[in-house]
Formats: sequence, C-alpha cells, structure tokens
Amino acid sequence: MTDYDYDLFVVGAGSGGVRAANMAANQGARVAIAEVRHFGGTCVNLGCVPKKLLVYASQFKDDFAAAAGFGWTLDNASFDWPSLIANKDREVERLQAVYQKHLQQSRVTVFNGKAQLLDAHTVAVAGEQCTAKRILLATGGWPFVPDIAGKQHVVTSNDMFSLDKLPERILIVGGGYIAVEFASILNGLGVDTTVCQRGEKLLEGFDEDIRDYLAAAMSRQGIKILFNCDVLAIEANGTAFSVSLADGNTVITDLVMYATGRTPNSRGFGLEQLGVALDDNGAIIVDAHYQTNLPSIYALGDVTDRVNLTPVAIAEGEALAQRLYSERAQPVDYDNIPTAVFCQPNIASVGLTEAEAREKYPDIDIFKTEFKPIKNTLSGRDENTMMKMIVECGSNRVIGLHMIGADAPEIIQGMAVAMRAGATKAIFDSTIGIHPTSAEEFVTMTRKIP
Ligand code: NDP
Repeated sequence: MTDYDYDLFVVGAGSGGVRAANMAANQGARVAIAEVRHFGGTCVNLGCVPKKLLVYASQFKDDFAAAAGFGWTLDNASFDWPSLIANKDREVERLQAVYQKHLQQSRVTVFNGKAQLLDAHTVAVAGEQCTAKRILLATGGWPFVPDIAGKQHVVTSNDMFSLDKLPERILIVGGGYIAVEFASILNGLGVDTTVCQRGEKLLEGFDEDIRDYLAAAMSRQGIKILFNCDVLAIEANGTAFSVSLADGNTVITDLVMYATGRTPNSRGFGLEQLGVALDDNGAIIVDAHYQTNLPSIYALGDVTDRVNLTPVAIAEGEALAQRLYSERAQPVDYDNIPTAVFCQPNIASVGLTEAEAREKYPDIDIFKTEFKPIKNTLSGRDENTMMKMIVECGSNRVIGLHMIGADAPEIIQGMAVAMRAGATKAIFDSTIGIHPTSAEEFVTMTRKIP
C-alpha cells in the first residue's frame, strides 16, 4: 500500500475547500490545505461579506430620508468612504483569522502559496512536495472581462472593495448579480450610476416579473440603465473615460466597472498537463461525486462552474468529505436552491420561474400581490413590494416563490424550508400570518393572475 503524506490535499481555502478540509480532518483524515491569497476565498474577501457591508452602508441615505416621516431630524449627515473601507477591512481580517483558527483546531496542515500538481498524487507548494491519496481543487472563480479596446482601463468587483475614493460617475457593464448589486450600492452612496446591459433585461434566469420590476425600481431611484448596449472601446480622457457604444453614443464617466461573469480559476495548477478534463470555459468537469476523469483528483464549488453560490460550495465540501471519510453520505440536493440579490429593492427566489413552470407543468396557478410596506406609509418612500407564488394545480404544491422588496432574502429563506418539505398552497393558506409583516402576504395570497 502506498504511504502518502496526506489523505487529502485541498487546493484553495475558500468556502468549499475549508469546509471539506475541516470535515475530513474531523473524521480522522490527514489533511493539508494550500491558499495563495487570503483565507476565506471570494466570499469573505471579495464577495458576499464585504459586499453586504457595503449594501448596509448604501441604505443609510434612504433611511435618513425616511427618518423625517417618523419625527426625526438629522442634520449634517455625511459619509466617509475610507472609514467604511477601513472598518470593512477589519471585519474581513477577523473572518480570515476565524477560518485559520478552525483549520488549526481541526489539525489541518496549512500552506501559504500557490499549489502545483506534479502528478495525480503529488503537489508542490511553498518550496515543498507533498503526496496525497486524494487532491481536491476548490480554487473558485475570477472576474471575466471580454476583450475590448481599452480593457486595461476597467475595474472589476475585485477592485471595488479597495478604491481610494468613490468616483462621481460610474458605468457598470453587465446586468447580472454583481452589476445590479454594485449599481444599488454606488447609487445609494451618491455616485451617478449608469448600467450598460447587452440584453433587453437585467438578471437573466430570474422570473420575468421580478426582472421588469427591478429595472423600473432602479430607474426610479435615478440609476440610468442602457439596454441592448454594447461597448466598443474605452479611452482614457484625462482623469475620465470615454466609452464608445455600438449604437454610436458615447458615455463619459470616471470609472468603468465590468461585471460580465466569472471564469473558473483552473489554469496554472498543472491540470492541463495531467490531462484533467476542463470544459470550454475552463471549468473542471466532475461527476456526481465531484470526481474528475483522474480518479484521485476532485473539484467542487465555482471552479466547476455549476451553481456558483457560497452555500452550495459549502454543501458540496461537506458532502464530499462525508462520502469519503464517514459513514454518513448525504448528497447535495440541487433542487429548490434559494437565491438572493442584494440590490435595492432586495430580490429573493426559490423554485421555478413562471416561464419554467409553464414549460414543465400543464396546469399552474399564479398568485401575485403588490403593496406598500407599512414602513413606507410614513417614510414617504415611493417603493412597493411585489410577491409571486406559483402553484402546480395537480398536486396543489407551491413550486416557485419570488419576492422583490425589503427583507426578501430573510423571508424567502424560511419559505424555502416549507417548499422543500413539499408544502401545498393549502398549507400556506392554513398558516397563520405574523401581523403586521410583509411575510404574512405569502400565507394570505388570494389574487390569482389569469
Ligand atoms: P452573471 O452571470 O450573473 O451576469 C453576467 C452579466 O454580464 C449578464 O448580464 C451578461 O449578459 C453579461 N455579459 C456576459 N458576457 C458579456 C460580454 N462579453 N459583454 C457584455 N456583457 C456580458 O455574472 P456576475 O459577474 O454578475 O456574477 C457572477 C456569479 O457570481 C453569479 O452568476 C452568481 O452565481 C455569483 N454571485 C452571487 C451573488 C449572490 O448570491 N447574491 C452576488 C454576486 C455574485 P446576458 O444577461 O446577456 O447574458
């Protein structure tokens, strides 16, 4: 029997890699992990966590404006970007340390450096060579910027968390999660914000009503959205940038941010030389058990480019470690994964969109409601909440829930549990609401859309 240095060598200490490493080590496996940048990966350092802190910062302008309706007078409120970034950095460093501490507590050997796979069982990292029975790639993704003239002038979400100062004007290219979240953040912080989306709508894959509602809400808030908009070239023009569009127009702006998707971070680890199969986009191809075409090499999370969400990578890490090192093997169920977009208003969804439901089932009912949340009666804020429920008539089961409005992610998380439990519309209807909340609308929905 070959004696390896480790049972499992994990490359990448982001959400999925760290969960797999800790769980495997806690089951008694000898585990090592290598990280070239910061512990916690995208989520902790350049994604979910710092983004959400910026989202909170951006909401105060509206909250201050709303306060007057509730009797408050606020004078001289001002905002300081460097203070926000310094405070955010402190929180990120705290989380990095938590990740490292958990690895230490699990007795995972940590290497700081870029790992190179020399063969199917050997990794070179930080001047050492280690052998492992299994190697797991959990190296995440990286912002993708298409090849356009002037590409060197653009920033991506990676750069937005450490800008020295906020621009007066920004052009955000893209219309997905990152584009709309940053558009809301920057608009909330007072930046003159324009979104350039190549298609006809924002947020591909979301329910059409939600997509339309968001575009209208963002426009009302003063965000300019250019649909069917293709960038041809970007030129530096003093301290500003001149962005030429395919329709002949030009946008002058102080910063151009690209949010045009992310590419799996699979290059430069030696995978191609070993013959690990990658798809056209560079994603590592794995089977249902996260195994690549080389049996000792596994991959999970964003580097496999399937469901690119932090909680999914964590669930995958857990499932893999359980399957390999414990008696309990609980595969990840990819159905009904709830998701949220932290734009303004917030969006959250679980289950099928109306279009997907119509495609899949012959008979569905759609319930929809739009209302002014109670807070906005005094705040003077012109923003409603919209909720939509999709029911499969044969079984009466709720198969899709969509919401745009304050606290949508907090509300949909709970609803997702009910949906996974197979709740019917009758169960929703027989649930007593909590009054007065927005969430209670989901248990009192009667307005069927023809
Ligand atoms: P998305 O895939 O969500 O959106 C990419 C956007 O860029 C789309 O609007 C797409 O247009 C457009 N686009 C793609 N290629 C080009 C191109 N060559 N030229 C112009 N436009 C282009 O990617 P994001 O970068 O926004 O986010 C990456 C992923 O990160 C998300 O898919 C999500 O999985 C994850 N994420 C999750 C968050 C959350 O859970 N809240 C937050 C942030 C990110 P079109 O619609 O026409 O395809």
